[in-house]
Amino acid sequence: MTATQQQTTVTELRGQVSPLPRVHYLHHEFEVPDGTTRLSVTLRFHKLRRCQLFLSVFGPGGYRGTRMNPGAVGDIVLELSFGEGFASLGALPGSIESGIWRAQIDVENTDETADYLLTVEAGTAEHPAEAPAANTVTNGRPGAGWYRGELHSHTHHSDGKASAAAVAGAARQYGLDFLALTDHFTTSSWPEITAQAGPDLAIIQSLELTGHRGHANMHGLSEWVNPFVDEPGSVWDINAVARAVRVQGGLFGVNHAFSNSLGWRYHELDWSLCDVFEIYHHLEGPNNAAQLSFWDGLLRAGHRVTGVAGTDSHDPHAGRHRLGQVFTVLGADSLTPGGLLGALRAGRAYVSLGPELSFTAEAGGKVAGMGEELPLSGPVRLHIGLSGLAFPARVFVMKNGLYHTHLDLPASSDEARVEIEDADSIPGYYRVEAYARPAQSDSSGGREWQNTLLLSNPIYTGGPK
Ligand SMILES: [Zn+2]
Repeated sequence: MTATQQQTTVTELRGQVSPLPRVHYLHHEFEVPDGTTRLSVTLRFHKLRRCQLFLSVFGPGGYRGTRMNPGAVGDIVLELSFGEGFASLGALPGSIESGIWRAQIDVENTDETADYLLTVEAGTAEHPAEAPAANTVTNGRPGAGWYRGELHSHTHHSDGKASAAAVAGAARQYGLDFLALTDHFTTSSWPEITAQAGPDLAIIQSLELTGHRGHANMHGLSEWVNPFVDEPGSVWDINAVARAVRVQGGLFGVNHAFSNSLGWRYHELDWSLCDVFEIYHHLEGPNNAAQLSFWDGLLRAGHRVTGVAGTDSHDPHAGRHRLGQVFTVLGADSLTPGGLLGALRAGRAYVSLGPELSFTAEAGGKVAGMGEELPLSGPVRLHIGLSGLAFPARVFVMKNGLYHTHLDLPASSDEARVEIEDADSIPGYYRVEAYARPAQSDSSGGREWQNTLLLSNPIYTGGPK
């Protein structure tokens, strides 16, 4: 698509970032004249090794996009340009209001002192008028079931490699029923990804808060939530964001909590505002064991947080980023965003690297499934069914975060059904873990994260705490 355009340079600003003093955001205001139909904001800097700067633009009417390229070194150029009917990657299309605009440089971290140049060009553009495509796609389908999908994936609108269409294509190729696109900061990929939905693939609009002390996925949003929570002393903190997500009917979840400098350090988070927690992250290696232990701590403190998986895919066909190697499986009323969010909120969910699970608990004639609470009256009988075991598996039942019992199952394509009775039932929760069976002795070993096959969510027992 060619456009005739005349650019007028409005502003050139120079500045510098350095490790100290620690500055989280740099703000530059500029004025956009009347009659502007194309705006271009470009940040240029030279990066030797570790200097992560992200560019965002805000107009008088609000947020207009973010550009990042954290993997690059050398001469970095981050550009956001847009107008009615067109936008560069990361940017939101729309008319250009005249008045005071703001460029924000998010200094995620820097070990270097680096000079930067911020250029604002305002002008006119004649783009072929693109009639907004009527959104006629069907997002999912009715019918209750256990659906498997991905809750953590990126496109080239943030730091992923592929387009939204390519990510959706990979999701279908690898057998996913649903996909949450969690680009960093920006909603610019939402129109493209929702256009890829269909009866066979439900799309959830999500966003990854990419803060200086941790990352959080926000699922089921209808509009952008301001993810910039690192201005010291600002009332717009991590709890304000989590509440804003809930106001939209969405869910707030903590990602890769032990990922070193990208790990979770927002100690002020009110964990009762946390809906989901990544208990299995496909790139996090041994940190998965720490995530699981920390989650048990939340559960033991009475927070009913749903454990989920994340591939954190930045390239849907590549290595451990390839979609479809780990799933979050949701027991949903329908394969729709609303049905899937309902299942996540309720805890009808498990993490799987292959097998399928059925898991219920029974006491005094009452039955509860994952996410539900079983009133205690005498012994508890757990019913565990596992199918699709490609490997001999060791299955653990965990009770209130501690080992309860384990048993070994052979590889089988048929469902293996197991019943376990616990005569010593106490308030709390049971959950199930399955691992490809190790060679170790029976008395120790078996919960090695790298052999993970399946992690259930809890069935709760007893009254509310
Ligand atoms: Zn992240």
